[in-house]
Amino acid sequence: MQVIEEFTIKPTTLVCPACQSMFASPTIVTMPTISRDTPVEADLHRVLPDAAVRAALVAMCPACNYTWWVTAYRPHLFKPQLVPPTPLVDSPKKFAHAVLTGRQNQAHALDLALLALNGCWCAREAGQPHERWLDLAGAELEKALKDPEWKGNRGYYHYIMGEICRQSGYFKGAIEHFGAVGPSSMLPRELVERQKVHAVSGDAKPVRLPPDLVETIFCPQARRRESLVSEEQ
Ligand SMILES: [Zn+2]
Repeated sequence: MQVIEEFTIKPTTLVCPACQSMFASPTIVTMPTISRDTPVEADLHRVLPDAAVRAALVAMCPACNYTWWVTAYRPHLFKPQLVPPTPLVDSPKKFAHAVLTGRQNQAHALDLALLALNGCWCAREAGQPHERWLDLAGAELEKALKDPEWKGNRGYYHYIMGEICRQSGYFKGAIEHFGAVGPSSMLPRELVERQKVHAVSGDAKPVRLPPDLVETIFCPQARRRESLVSEEQ
């Protein structure tokens, strides 16, 4: 068991959905809940304390290399010490294997974009270059947004695409995508306006969200309680 700033990672026996082999892979067993003080960046991801924590979100089968979100694997009661371990792969590289598995299985462009984004965040958490990951995430998300059959929250993903463009230094594209974010995205107007200002001023750096916005987006219940209390006063 490994404890990294309240995140606990433990080897677990998993069954591969592709070849049914059993293997041991690190999985996250406890994760602190998000509060207003949790580090969250403007592309709406929680900054994790170590690349190994994010890498534990995906698992890689040693028998057939099938790599996907750990939730796709069935846990098994066998002791993890008694089954083969997952291959030793550098944390961000696990996401590259997952993208490959997604391509081999005709996964939707949005799935590939989300894996690439996690690869990007994982690379940064590992102190490695992340630019190629950002390019890949942008290319796949562009495809997803152009798919007329896809029924996801387009406004939300136009916002994410705006952030990918902004962080890639493509400010014109960022402003266009931020402009396509409507109320159905469920995102606070303030967030979109803030990031538009960064794009207009040519700022490509990742941006940490202020605690108020983290609370509004990730802890709406705490926010509601607070407003009820202030209404009563
Ligand atoms: Zn397998």
